[in-house]
Amino acid sequence: NHDYEGFYVCYQPQFRGADYTLDGVEALMRFRADGVEYPPALFIPIMEQMGLIHDAGLWILKQALAQVTIWREKLPELYLNVNFSLGQFANPDIIETVIKIYKESGLPPHVLTLEFTETVEMEDVDKIAIATKTWKAAGIDVALDDFGTGYSNLAMLKEIACSEIKIERTFVSNIKDGTYSYLLTSSIVNFAHQNDIAVCCEGVETEKDVLTLSPLKPDLYQGYAFDKPLKVEEFEEAYIDST
Ligand code: C2E
Ligand code: CA
Repeated sequence: NHDYEGFYVCYQPQFRGADYTLDGVEALMRFRADGVEYPPALFIPIMEQMGLIHDAGLWILKQALAQVTIWREKLPELYLNVNFSLGQFANPDIIETVIKIYKESGLPPHVLTLEFTETVEMEDVDKIAIATKTWKAAGIDVALDDFGTGYSNLAMLKEIACSEIKIERTFVSNIKDGTYSYLLTSSIVNFAHQNDIAVCCEGVETEKDVLTLSPLKPDLYQGYAFDKPLKVEEFEEAYIDST
């Protein structure tokens, strides 16, 4: 697990709604300089603006695929999610490059899901739709991230043909029975399931959140109630060394 000019990767575990067992990990970029940690919310937009997200995006993809390949020797069903920035489409070869990197990893089809932040621009929807179609044929899945923020449009899901929705943590954290957030989450799960789309509840912070959400039957949970983003050694200590 090598640093790339101060960049490294953390992995946040995701758990199955059915039995709370480990399902996969989301790779999250980290940046450290002179002993100071900078949050991605700060440096990702800067990298996007400076056109640096392309190289960084491919770097984290390769790094995470290699890591998950190693972990799958002990956890054969482990899945991987990697965030994909719309800025990466600035490179005209990106769709094929991602497929090439995935093939080179040697992982079987449908281990990797790329997460897109929900978007309002129709132009972006078109781009994601084309990419999704091509990637799907190559065994790479797509998830819509931060779902419920922005101007969510359920019809858009059909265009994009994503296989997973991640419900934004503002709806999920501290969720209460019968509230607007609860009914919204319930509707999203029902709609998604009727369309063969899996739902991940993000930012599940407490056991109470899990208890409130469980009747809605989301497929996956991710959040501090289960675990935080972990460094490679931390993940191995918790999920590999102990098995
Ligand atoms: P995201 O994709 O929505 O990632 C989930 C964020 O929620 C992570 O923040 C994670 O640490 C945080 N989180 C997880 N569980 C909880 C919880 O229970 N409560 C709360 N309050 N937060 C929780 P992080 O790592 O700071 O990343 C922030 C954002 O930066 C990500 O949001 C993603 O949009 C972006 N990002 C991170 N890594 C990458 C990357 O490699 N590429 C791209 N394009 N974007 C990235
Ligand atoms: Ca994400």
